[in-house]
Amino acid sequence: MFINNMYLDLLKIKNRDELISGIIDIFYQRKIDDFFLYFEQGEDRYYISPKNPDIKIIKGDNEFDWKRYAIKQGNDFWHIDTLLYDIKLGDNIVLNKNKHYFVYTNDNEKTLLFTHYKMIEFPKSIHEEMIKFIYLMDSLFSKFYMKKIEDIYNNIDRRMDTLTDKIQTLQRLSGLLQSTFEIKKILDIISQYISDSLGFKVVLLSLYNEQKNAFVRSSQYGIDNEVFKKLKKQLVPYSTIQDLMVEKYRISKSYYINHKETGIQKISDLSYVVPYEKPDDYTNWHPEDILLIPLYSKDKKIIGIITVDKPVDHNIRIKEAIDLLESFAQTASLAIENTRLFNKMNGLISDLEKINDISSNLTSYLDINSMLNFLVKEMRANFNYINVTVWLFNRNGELEIRASAGYGDEYLEECRVSVSAGEGITGWVAENNVPVLVQDTSADPRYIGRSDLILSEIAVPLKISNHVIGVLNVEKEGLNSLDKNDLRIISIMCSHLSTAIDNTFKYEETEKLAVTDGMTGMYNYRYFINRLKEELVRAKKLNIPLSVIMIDIDFFKDINDTYGHIIGDKIIKELAELLRSIVRKGDIVTRYGGDEFFVILPGSSKNFTIKLAKRIMKSVNTFKFTKDIALTLSLGTVTYPEDASTMDSLLRWVDDALYAAKKKGRNRVEGSK
Ligand code: GH3
Ligand code: MG
Repeated sequence: MFINNMYLDLLKIKNRDELISGIIDIFYQRKIDDFFLYFEQGEDRYYISPKNPDIKIIKGDNEFDWKRYAIKQGNDFWHIDTLLYDIKLGDNIVLNKNKHYFVYTNDNEKTLLFTHYKMIEFPKSIHEEMIKFIYLMDSLFSKFYMKKIEDIYNNIDRRMDTLTDKIQTLQRLSGLLQSTFEIKKILDIISQYISDSLGFKVVLLSLYNEQKNAFVRSSQYGIDNEVFKKLKKQLVPYSTIQDLMVEKYRISKSYYINHKETGIQKISDLSYVVPYEKPDDYTNWHPEDILLIPLYSKDKKIIGIITVDKPVDHNIRIKEAIDLLESFAQTASLAIENTRLFNKMNGLISDLEKINDISSNLTSYLDINSMLNFLVKEMRANFNYINVTVWLFNRNGELEIRASAGYGDEYLEECRVSVSAGEGITGWVAENNVPVLVQDTSADPRYIGRSDLILSEIAVPLKISNHVIGVLNVEKEGLNSLDKNDLRIISIMCSHLSTAIDNTFKYEETEKLAVTDGMTGMYNYRYFINRLKEELVRAKKLNIPLSVIMIDIDFFKDINDTYGHIIGDKIIKELAELLRSIVRKGDIVTRYGGDEFFVILPGSSKNFTIKLAKRIMKSVNTFKFTKDIALTLSLGTVTYPEDASTMDSLLRWVDDALYAAKKKGRNRVEGSK
């Protein structure tokens, strides 16, 4: 017989207490006068010790840590942990009142039996019986705990069902959300879905607006359109919501505020109160209760809130509702964030395209002013900036407005058109050679611009091989209306612009070289001819006179011969300066070559021209040239339209006039043939 029938009878026992008395009976017959039995089933631990009710299994500090369970007897503790791992079948341990106990364990060491025998020597058969008993106990206890496990499984099944439902709903929701990148549609899908699947007739979704530091009602379900229009206009300040999001009202990640709560803002301001709703119709809910589910971004910043109202079955189980709402909120947050990111990326790409377009056009300008004017106008039109300005350093080392679009001439007249390095945000950027993004100009101590508008500003240095030549700045209306992306865009624009400016500088430089006379820095003959052509066209168009004076130094060869070429050169330079100082602002002095000069006098009558020529002659007579060299000039003049009306005839006339002056004895002016 493998196992005694007595034990098999135990299998028929249906309740725990009967089982224990059955075991005691059998053990007494086996002369086991004391025992205790420890076993684990599932997550439960049991301890049976008929004679020692004071021995208990107590829990450790951490209730989930089974290894911290201990057997306590009086002041002594044995950690089950130690017992399970340190003792093996056949160990003799001293446990209770110095009595020796024999230890039996099963394979998995989840059942322990300690027995004390009346006899010192024990028949081997009893030992074998005890070992079998241990295994029998396993199945016996399993039987008693099976029912419990079944319950657990049923419970798990139910939970799985709800979970599957939830997952499926969420999957459907994310599927729908992926169908569009339009934020408005996304929000409407979320609101409707919450209403449909969670049974709230009213759903309100508000998004946090950083610039306004408030929540803006952005989507709804179940609210009359006219009412919602009004609600949209009423912003909910961030602080109002913050006051509600306190530990006192928190359930999981959401907040439930009962209408009876006092000391908070009038509830109708926050939640939408369904008109004509009778509070008595509800259990666990009142139309003025607030259930607030925050929407968080990945970096844990609040991006919005969902509020719900009017549960369809007129009852609400807050915790369950919150559990589901939070899952929705998570999916919704993700969709909102992705959509925003997508739109931002799209915006960034289109901004880059615009920048690319504008900068590729910059290269077609050779003249810096037209180029800068084109740039500021395009930037303003394409990016909705309120103002765009290009500042460049002038000769005096001041930053000067070279082109500006937005505020218009009137404002520019009032405001500073030049600043020193270090002055204002623009000056600061130029001095420190770093770009800045200011999200509130009124709060920036460097700002010296207009105080009548709330502005955001970006200022980026314009550099040619790391040498700051100026600053591009843009302004946009509103707090935080410019961000890092704008800064990125502007910086890219600036590097293009700097290159374009550098190119026009270089072009102007080569142009200048081609049209200037190296020795005097005056325009050369090439320039003279082109300019005369232009001025003649203009004079004809405007019907105004145009005159030319041709000048030749008398006997200059002699000066060279007497003093040498170097002194001769010096004299030419001194004369050039003198001529420049005598003529009017709009007159153009050019060097023909050798000792000959031309002066173009747009708008000058014949009379005035002859007078000016004489003044030149006299000034030269009295001027102290180097080495006190006395100099005289011969001058010829011509005036359109009296004397000539074509380029050729003008040039021929003036040459003839000069020749006449020479012929008539030099140091004189001739205005006719
Ligand atoms: P005239 O009164 O007939 O004009 O006599 P001139 O000696 O000035 O004769 P002309 O105008 O025909 O000759 C110009 C002289 O000026 C020739 C040359 O010796 C001198 N010259 C021309 N260009 C330069 C220059 O760049 N530097 C110097 N030092 N001398 C020059
Ligand atoms: Mg001469």
